[in-house]
Amino acid sequence: MARRLALGAKLVLASHNPGKLREIEDLLCPHGVSVVSAGALGLPEPVEDAPDFAGNARIKALAAAQASGLPALSDDSGFCVAALDGAPGVFSARWAGPSKSFADAMARVHDRMGDAADTRAWFIAALCLAWPDGHTETFIGRVDGTVVWPPLGDRGFGYDPMFLPAGEAETFGQMAPAAKHAVSHRARAFAQVLAACFV
Ligand code: IMP
Repeated sequence: MARRLALGAKLVLASHNPGKLREIEDLLCPHGVSVVSAGALGLPEPVEDAPDFAGNARIKALAAAQASGLPALSDDSGFCVAALDGAPGVFSARWAGPSKSFADAMARVHDRMGDAADTRAWFIAALCLAWPDGHTETFIGRVDGTVVWPPLGDRGFGYDPMFLPAGEAETFGQMAPAAKHAVSHRARAFAQVLAACFV
């Protein structure tokens, strides 16, 4: 049985990514926890050198929990393209380069795909809840869809404008936040966090 958060707990959001922070705050909002970001506490960003999403999520959540003395929730996530054998995957943030240009990162995906007939793609999110004593709980969410080109929409963040979720008429870049939360990898992982760890 998973460890649960105490009622009214204060939670550190172990991310420095503004797009993720906005979405996780939206998801947490109805659930009576008070949140503070790792950035607001001046916590450093740890090196994410695990080979998979769950490992990197654990690194970030543990670092924030141990540095702050509070439970911490992290998100490690990425965009995976079938024709690129799952790339950029755990390197999704790094494909945007030091300037963090996702227009460039999306163009790189498009260039590498060339004229591939297989346009399947998916997002994965690993959410990890860690406590200062080193206990962790990790949950994975996934959403499948296809790559579209050119990118459509200016909402969301990262690779959202080039991803059309299966069964939807709009890319993540076109969707209102609530519509993205209804199907997203992050919301699917968050639903598991809620079920397992919230009182
Ligand atoms: P990391 O988890 O900090 O390594 O960064 C994950 C990267 O994956 C982000 O910088 C985004 O580029 C991408 N990513 C993760 N989730 C999403 C999403 O919901 N929409 C678009 N891009 C995402």
